[in-house]
Order: sequence, then C-alpha cells, then structure tokens
Amino acid sequence: MSEHKPGRLYGVGLGPGDPSLMTVRAVEVIAAADVVAYHSARHGRSIARTIAERHLRPDHIEERLVYPVTTETTDHPGGYRGAMEEFYEEAAARLAAHLDAGRTVAVLAEGDPLFYSSYMHMHKRLAHRYPTEVVPGVTSVSAAAARLGEPLVEGEEVLTILPGTLPEEELTARLAATDSAVVMKLGRTFPTVKGALERSGRLAEARYVERATMSGERTGRVADVDPESVPYFSVAVLPSRVGAEPVADEGRGEVTVVGLGPAGPLWLTPEARGALAAAEDLVGYTTYLDRVPVRPGQQRHASDNKVESERAEFALDLARQGRRVAVVSSGDPGVFAMATAVLEVASEGPYREVPVRVVPGMTAAHAAASRAGAPLGHDYAVVSLSDRLKPWEVVAERLRAAAAADLVLALYNPGSRSRTWQVGKARDVLLEHRAPETPVVLGRDVGGPEESVRIVRLGELVPEEVDMRTILIVGSTQTRAVRRGAGEEIVWTPRRYPEE
Ligand code: SAH
Repeated sequence: MSEHKPGRLYGVGLGPGDPSLMTVRAVEVIAAADVVAYHSARHGRSIARTIAERHLRPDHIEERLVYPVTTETTDHPGGYRGAMEEFYEEAAARLAAHLDAGRTVAVLAEGDPLFYSSYMHMHKRLAHRYPTEVVPGVTSVSAAAARLGEPLVEGEEVLTILPGTLPEEELTARLAATDSAVVMKLGRTFPTVKGALERSGRLAEARYVERATMSGERTGRVADVDPESVPYFSVAVLPSRVGAEPVADEGRGEVTVVGLGPAGPLWLTPEARGALAAAEDLVGYTTYLDRVPVRPGQQRHASDNKVESERAEFALDLARQGRRVAVVSSGDPGVFAMATAVLEVASEGPYREVPVRVVPGMTAAHAAASRAGAPLGHDYAVVSLSDRLKPWEVVAERLRAAAAADLVLALYNPGSRSRTWQVGKARDVLLEHRAPETPVVLGRDVGGPEESVRIVRLGELVPEEVDMRTILIVGSTQTRAVRRGAGEEIVWTPRRYPEE
C-alpha cells in the first residue's frame, strides 16, 4: 500500500473570455494538473472549459460539476438553497477524493476565481484541508473597460462594483453616490438596473458591454439596448468622469442647492454626494465648502456667511452661462439656509429660466434629537433665535405662542460671538410657561469632530454655553429626562398627550 502526499488544489482564473488573456501561470498550472474541474449548467457548455480548451489533453481527468438547478424552482426539500448546498458538498467531496489520492486538481474559473465565482464554494470547503493556490485572472471589469476604451477610474475617484441582482432601491442609492461603477450579472436584471440608472440620474453616462473579449461581443449605450436581448454575460459601466465631455442632456446650466447634513460623512445622502460630484462649480460659505472634498476640474467659490443673496445671484449667473452649479448648505438647505435665497433671486426677471433643484439633507434638529433620545417624538416647532433677519419682538412672540401651545422647541442660531443675549431672553420668555426643571438638549457640532451633547434644565440655561454650532431642544411639559443603566441620561417626549 502506498502512502500518498495529498495533491494541490488550484483555483485558476482564466480571464474574461479571449483565451489569449489567460495568464502564463494559468497555462502552467493546467499543464501540470492531473484533474481539471469546471462548473457547468445542465444543458450547455462550460464557458470556462471553452476558454481553456486548447490547453486540455486527453490524459487530463475532467470533472464536470453540473449545477442541479438554474432557477429558484426545485423539488429539493431544502428549496433552492438546499439543492445548491448539497451540490457543492458533493462536488467538494469528488475533488477531495482526487486530492487524497495525491492528484493535482485545477478548478477553472472564468475571470478571477475570488470575484463572484463558483470556485469559492470549493475553496471554502477545501482550502483549509489541502495546499491551495489561487491564480488570479483578468476580470470582466477590466475587460469591459478595455473594450469601451475609456478610463474607468482616475485619481481620487471611487469605483463601485454592484451585482445587478440587488433591489432597485439599493442600486439607485449606490449609483447616485459613486463616481464610476460596474454593474455585473445583467440578463434578467437589466430592466431593474436601467431603472436604477435612470432614477440616480446616471443613465446618459451608462455604457453597455456584452461578452467582452468573447465571440459575439457587443458594446453600446445602456439607453439604446433592447432589454430582451441582454444575456447574463454583460455589464453596465459608468466610466470615469474626470475630463469627460458633458453628456448631451446636461448641456444646459442649472443650480442644485445641496444639503450637506449637520456634519460628518454619514449624514450626507447618496443623492447629495452625487450632486456634489456632478457639479462643475461649487458655491457656498467657506465653512460648509470645506466639508466637500476637492475634485480636480471643479471650481470652488467660497464666500463669507453674510451675503446670501449675492451668492445666490452669482450661482444663477454661472448657470446662465451653461455651468452646472451646486450651492451648498449645512443640514437641510430649506431650513434657515440657501434654498430660499436662491429661489428668491430665481423668481426675478433674468433668472426665471434657470433650472433650480433642491436636494434635501438631514437637519440639525433631527441629528441632535437622535443623540439625546427622542425629544421631538410629539408636536414641535422650529424657531431661529437670530434677530438679524427679523425683529427680536417677533422671535419673542413666537416663543411665547409655541410655549403656550406646549410645543417642544428646536431653536436654531441661538447665539454667536456677536449675538450673546438671545438665549437668556428666550429662557426667560419660556420660563413664563415652563417649569425650571424642563429638560433642554444642547447639541454642539453634532456629527462633527467636536460633538458634544448635554442635557441641562431650562432654569440653568446660560448663554455662555451656546455658540454658532449649537442647537437647543427645549422640552414640553410632557418631555421626560430619565437616567438609565450606567447613569446615562436620555430625553424623550411621549407620543400620547393627556386629555384635559
Ligand atoms: N440648514 C441648517 C441650519 C442652518 S442655521 C440645518 O438644516 O441644520 C445654522 C444653525 O443650525 C446653527 O446655528 C445651529 O443652531 C444649527 N446647526 C447646524 N449644524 C449643526 C450641528 N452639526 N450641530 C448643532 N447645531 C447645528
């Protein structure tokens, strides 16, 4: 009886289809293998085998791993998943038998073995038991880009690779937020993918590549493709935008007013991220503009915080010259911010024709509320304490009215270096209707690097604690402050209101 040293397992990437795009290493490994294994559908040829065909010899033992099912319908008691699980287990056992007998096994994989490939099901079951080597291959991503002959990603651009099998909602968000993209696994998913490209505003840029480097290859624009004609071996590509010609329907200038969220990258919506990337000109207050990463080819026009109408006019003028302009605001652009300023100017004579769009953002009140608990869980009012654009008497009256109506209050612009007394006055007005113990949330730079969220009592509220980056949330008579677990205090307002 002979003792065998176990054989080696190879996952062999074959590249995208053209046999001459196989690596030298892939050819060497196949030449030295005893067993060549490949997955295939029950009917039809194995694409992997076709690519490697010229390197296969009669003395190779071929292991065809035939999928039991191709669609989600099966009579296996475990359903589709059960059937597949059993198939992979059995296939791995077949390969293990060869490896135990000391034979070298090369598992062929179209493209790259660790990139959406069936090889991984064998790898996960065998690589910890046998010496294993993975031979990388040229993926369909690179092949598609090469066939289009256009740059895919450059500099700081981000490439997102998406399976077309994702839900349309998920695809839409990802496509809106990314620079470049490749959507794989088209076929039956094509209408969904096209819908997502349209909703994310990227359809005009989207290219289509079918069977890249294989026979029957076809390239074109996604918008022109007949959905009925799309096979599984095709991808949609959003190429690099660096230095790209503006696409046809974007020739006209426009202004997009974009909400950046309160602070931090997690509260920038995918739509806002996409709008910032698509702009040729960025206009905004220096502090907010600094939150937008620099992109080559994009003009930045930073300005002082005071001249909102001039900034709006400047943006609309650029758009009239045919530029795509993004005006940035913190939080939501419609809440004490640039959207109104832009629309005010855009309602006048020469600017009426300029397309204007508002892209919403999360407003500071909601960010601060989430950190403290749920103080805005019932009816609430939003008031700016700034008396720069309205007389203080109006502010005071509104505070009185909101307090009398027992609304929770979110107070924006509570103070700055030059506006220091408003918070004290507001506190005194509110104390006419509220107990000194009423919880107040002080949120500063919420979501940003200097975030602090404190819960104090209305009676103790002092102006020194607030600045331009602070928002106040003042509870109603129903708002509760509660200590939990380790002593952390939370604030919430019940949804139910007591009957009179
Ligand atoms: N459009 C913005 C509000 C602009 S007014 C929005 O929707 O949030 C500016 C005021 O917003 C600031 O004085 C402060 O009260 C509040 N604010 C904005 N960002 C904030 C943050 N990250 N943390 C706390 N308050 C913030």
